[in-house]
Amino acid sequence: MTRETTAYRSVNENPCNMCMPMGGILPFKGIEEAMVIIHGSQGCSTYMRRHIAEHYNEPIDVGSSSINEKGTIYGGAQNLFQALDNIRKVYQPRLIGILTSCLAETIGEDVEGITRFYLKQRDLEGISLIAVSTPGYGGTHSEGYWLAVKKIVAGLAENTEKHDGINVIVPNLSPADIREIKRILKLMGVRYTLLPDISDTLDRPIARPYTKIPPGGTSIESIRRMPGAVATVQFGVTVEEKLSPGHYLQTEFGVPLYNLPVPMGVEATDSLINLLAQLSGNNAPQSLNMERGRLLDCMVDSHKYNAQGCGAVFGDPELVYAAARTCAENGLYPAVVATGSGTANLEKMLGPVLADSPQQARLLKETDFTQIREACRETGVNIAIGHSDGKFLTEKEGIPLVRLGFPIHDQVGGQRLLSVGYTGTTMFLDRVTNTILEHKHKNYRAVMYRKFYRKTISERTALKR
Ligand code: SF4
Repeated sequence: MTRETTAYRSVNENPCNMCMPMGGILPFKGIEEAMVIIHGSQGCSTYMRRHIAEHYNEPIDVGSSSINEKGTIYGGAQNLFQALDNIRKVYQPRLIGILTSCLAETIGEDVEGITRFYLKQRDLEGISLIAVSTPGYGGTHSEGYWLAVKKIVAGLAENTEKHDGINVIVPNLSPADIREIKRILKLMGVRYTLLPDISDTLDRPIARPYTKIPPGGTSIESIRRMPGAVATVQFGVTVEEKLSPGHYLQTEFGVPLYNLPVPMGVEATDSLINLLAQLSGNNAPQSLNMERGRLLDCMVDSHKYNAQGCGAVFGDPELVYAAARTCAENGLYPAVVATGSGTANLEKMLGPVLADSPQQARLLKETDFTQIREACRETGVNIAIGHSDGKFLTEKEGIPLVRLGFPIHDQVGGQRLLSVGYTGTTMFLDRVTNTILEHKHKNYRAVMYRKFYRKTISERTALKR
């Protein structure tokens, strides 16, 4: 595997990531009775709301402190005070996440200090405020996501009594994926606290009366009790320790951490099931074994087509690792693996996965779609797997795109895409295989036609014979 970064470039064209506060919003949307606010200029929260709403097809409320010229010069504390007062009045939340934007960080706002002062001055009880420093230039949306989850745990966790539940900490997956993980936990007879739980809040059934904060999400009480759990299972093998909520619970409260890959593919899902069996003392039920058997059957059916694929996988590091591993398991070795993030762990984890690859895979970190496109062209990629921004690969290079991850804003159903567990992997592999087949059949005659008519008359005659 060869590694390339954008270090030598002074420009980023269509980055393969979004900004840090956008990722920070998502975990707060998975907590019961929580609201979130961006401390900065108004345009930031408008852009983020729109982007998130397009992916989940849900109304997404995000407050803004709307710092103006005066606030930029004298500080934005008064704007934030006013915004917090308004949010409390309109939404009556029990928790408010306060994320900073580029502007607030550049003018040097001490958002944690301002938040403490606000709580003291308003003499508030029964509400938690969690400040997260997320300058847009401080990392990608993926780092913003993990930092927000860690701050939520650090802000709420209490030294509680030991209990028999486990903590399950998830990366930025679809609501359908979260529902599937919860279903597996239930089938394994495990008591758990899953954080953050967007399964209902960001894929909300139509219901009346409409509530401003969608029902569902991880309860604040269960987060407080996370330090008493038997163990933490975190799907975050690419996450650096400084951003890892599971690592925080282990070092601060002694909760054993099991860091697993996202349960995509046979091996990764087996790892989860085996760990749950070990922690709970329960065997996997027959229904799960049947699902595993169906996945193996799907692989038998599809691996011969997958072997014709030359893939590019891009997006959040955790999902990129899981998808690349699943593809390799089924004979589709990625030639290009790309992420906007700079995490060092992705390269370390991918090494053994791509060891048997027939061609050297190219790993692009902190990258953009200009570089990804070039790498795809040079390596002969014929299928791309990732979020909607990869549609340029289809438009400009004719490479079909299997949508996976966040954001999916050019199609509906991003929130319903299921890719984890034995059943989710089966559905993912079907999507990949059918895309390879469709692309092959669509281009087969054109390729044959070009091959035939580019030849001389005598060559054609020889071919006909
Ligand atoms: S990069 Fe900075 S300015 Fe742009 S939307 Fe993100 S926080 Fe706002």
